[in-house]
Amino acid sequence: MNSAESASLALVCKERGWTEAGDSTEADLVLINTCSVRLTAEERVFGRIAHYAGLKKKSKKKFTFVIAGCMAQRLGEELKVKYPAINYVMGTSARSIFPLILEAAENNTTAVFDSDINEKSVFTFSDSHYETENEQGSVFRSFVPIMHGCNNFCSYCIVPYVRGREVSRSPENILNELRIVAERGVREVTLLGQNVNSYSWQDFDFADLLKLIADEAQKNGISWIRFLSANPGNFSLKTIEVLAKNKVFCRHIHLPVQHGSTSVLKAMNRGYTAERFLELTGEIRSAIPGISLSTDILVGFPGETEDDVKKTLQLMEEVKFIYSFMYHFNPREGTKAFDLPDRIADKVKKERLSRVIALQEKHTNEILKGRIGNTETVLIEGISRKNADELITRTEKDERAVVPGSKSLIGSFGRLTLSSLKGNTFRGEFI
Ligand code: SF4
Repeated sequence: MNSAESASLALVCKERGWTEAGDSTEADLVLINTCSVRLTAEERVFGRIAHYAGLKKKSKKKFTFVIAGCMAQRLGEELKVKYPAINYVMGTSARSIFPLILEAAENNTTAVFDSDINEKSVFTFSDSHYETENEQGSVFRSFVPIMHGCNNFCSYCIVPYVRGREVSRSPENILNELRIVAERGVREVTLLGQNVNSYSWQDFDFADLLKLIADEAQKNGISWIRFLSANPGNFSLKTIEVLAKNKVFCRHIHLPVQHGSTSVLKAMNRGYTAERFLELTGEIRSAIPGISLSTDILVGFPGETEDDVKKTLQLMEEVKFIYSFMYHFNPREGTKAFDLPDRIADKVKKERLSRVIALQEKHTNEILKGRIGNTETVLIEGISRKNADELITRTEKDERAVVPGSKSLIGSFGRLTLSSLKGNTFRGEFI
């Protein structure tokens, strides 16, 4: 979501005639679009703010300094008090002020608006979120946000506090963005939402939207559609049926389980049990054979026992995720879990996490090795950084594959035989 919103802010700049500065010392405006989801992400942002504040103090050029995104929403004007070098703080709901900030920077004046704009504004979707180009040149993949915010209040999560309650985007607006990105040559779209399958527009639910998108995508030349992140608690049978019927949906789903113990899931307020999660993965796999599943796993939640950890490892053994984002619990002030008793010692959390990571690495390796010899469709994304005669491609299941080939193929789909594996990257040959 952060990437998509950064792209939409960059588009606003470009539409007004701004260009990217070659170096931060040449910039007229510096914007940091922040993320709050992990404590480490916030710590990194503070480091960057201090860096640019120092740069601004030393240089003659007094660039406009803007802090946007979740931290701006969470900390508001407090950030400006701590770092007077910051000119504007623009929360996730207050992006409509960005053109005013640009206008003021263009005219060497100061944009004036309510100091509590971040609190008062209601979230609205930008029309477009595509990246115009990246270091590989043209972009063939794009994010399309379809909903925003979350009503779930998992006890460890800051998102509902910084992103607010769920808001869905109108189907017309979503289809319009699909047409815009298709015209620009995008071939793969990822539908985004903090809780993507809670999408709801009048009597239209996520499955209805997927049906509509499948028809539109095929008309426009978009061949692959993904979505992030689906909540297992809201995953309906109707959604599974739509996915099974439409090949445009990639045969890979990211389904964050977070934990394998029902009692920990309850303390996390996840809204489903480990047993239901297993049942759901069974339903998905029997409707869509060969589908690959990835997940998020959070260990070291307060009160977690050794038995709970074993249940998580067992669940991983049963499901065999292709990959997981694995992390240990860090208390976030303002969330319910911050005040929970029985915090787990850091050393214990790290040891538990290391076991989860080791098991995941084993599964990833086994699954990928098992695919060597297969023929698969890939989207050819660009030239390999290591070898100009090789292309970087991505499989439908979202893995990287390197293949010798001509750069004229970039942006098209190809069929590869997967011949070997280096780390988690396939090497292949076109057939
Ligand atoms: S579903 Fe839970 S973890 Fe995901 S954004 Fe909402 S509150 Fe956070």
